[in-house]
Amino acid sequence: SRSEITYFGAGPALLPTDVLETAAQALLDYNGTGLGIAEHSHRSELATNIINEAKADLATYLDIPSADYEVIFMQAGGTGEFAASVYNLVGAWVARQHAALLQANPGGDEATIVASLRQKVESDLKLDYIVTGSWSLKAYQEAIRLVGPEYVNLVVDARTANDGKFGKIPDQSTWKLSKDAALVYYCDNETVDGVEFPEFPAVLAPKADGTGPIVVADMSSNILSRRIPVTNYSLLFFGAQKNLGSTGVTVAVLKKSFLPPTTVQPSAPLLRKLGLPIPPIILQYEIIAKNNSLYNTLSILDVYIAGQVLKKLLKTYPDKVDGQQAVSAKKAELIYGALEAHPEAYKIVPDKSVRSRMNICFRITKNGTIDESEKAFLKEATSIGLTGLKGHRSVGGIRASNYNSIPLEGAEKLAQFINTFAKT
Ligand code: PMP
Repeated sequence: SRSEITYFGAGPALLPTDVLETAAQALLDYNGTGLGIAEHSHRSELATNIINEAKADLATYLDIPSADYEVIFMQAGGTGEFAASVYNLVGAWVARQHAALLQANPGGDEATIVASLRQKVESDLKLDYIVTGSWSLKAYQEAIRLVGPEYVNLVVDARTANDGKFGKIPDQSTWKLSKDAALVYYCDNETVDGVEFPEFPAVLAPKADGTGPIVVADMSSNILSRRIPVTNYSLLFFGAQKNLGSTGVTVAVLKKSFLPPTTVQPSAPLLRKLGLPIPPIILQYEIIAKNNSLYNTLSILDVYIAGQVLKKLLKTYPDKVDGQQAVSAKKAELIYGALEAHPEAYKIVPDKSVRSRMNICFRITKNGTIDESEKAFLKEATSIGLTGLKGHRSVGGIRASNYNSIPLEGAEKLAQFINTFAKT
């Protein structure tokens, strides 16, 4: 039964049982309305209240300054955001260049402006990608697919400094950042490879005058687990299905200065003339923001579940994300501690400096080589209720996903099992 297992799957992940019980009731009959939460209109007042409360609770928990940042719910997953970030920030870049050209050439004819804009795009448009694992690699590949390789700059490929494998983050002094890139993209926690940025990359920090690179981060697998310097980002996004809620909604937190009136997306005909892709309307941030995430039908059930998770976090931790951060660190220390106590049996995959607190990836070794007993480890773990530990199909091995919903006792039980398994 549910109470007998601790599920360490990488996503969808475990959700708190009390949240699911509340949601199950709401699915049948929301607040005595006789209608379930998935049946009510997304245009109803109660749906709007659910959205607004979830947004406000997220802002409270993470200290998102609401005057400067917009929170929106989207629907195409983290993968959809790989594309959305490209479309929107290329659009914003083009809009800025267009505005500058119009200002410099008042009364200039359209054909000349478009020709200059085209030249500007060809010479200066760059999208910067920091590739530290499988997910940032996918985002980088999506950018190439959408705009073409000539506009995409690989700032760093972490594999080159680590025998062709992910597991380290090369020193920031070696990163090749473009000047005035349309965006600088990175993934804060690489779910497959167990690599997490220990802190915000200093080289991307804003300067004293507030200017700096346009930073975009994928926080799908570590959001809500530690404090983040929100104002350093132009955009951060995360799918719900790890630390926030159920699969079906994706959250984007974006700087309002990237919304109208300053950076209205260029028109489709203009983008066509520039040879740049035209964003599907459903991926345009300003459209979704303007409609309070209700441009089209949104799964209010999923927003509701996310909202309940946030309410629980706020209730559990009076000091908000800092409280969760301390618990996340403690759980990760327990598990890594057990692995480190048996270097003859376990090899932790990533370098110590970038070990993920959320996705703990390791191999079982004998005499220095990967051992058959990984299968036995998984089987025995399952038999005592520790499930979902199999590594991602692309890399194999063991992966313990230590998300917020894993209780301290669950981490302790896993640490204990790691110890006893090594001894046998
Ligand atoms: N980014 C990260 C860091 C992820 O872990 C995942 C999914 N596991 C994705 C993006 C893709 O998310 P989705 O499956 O929602 O498209």
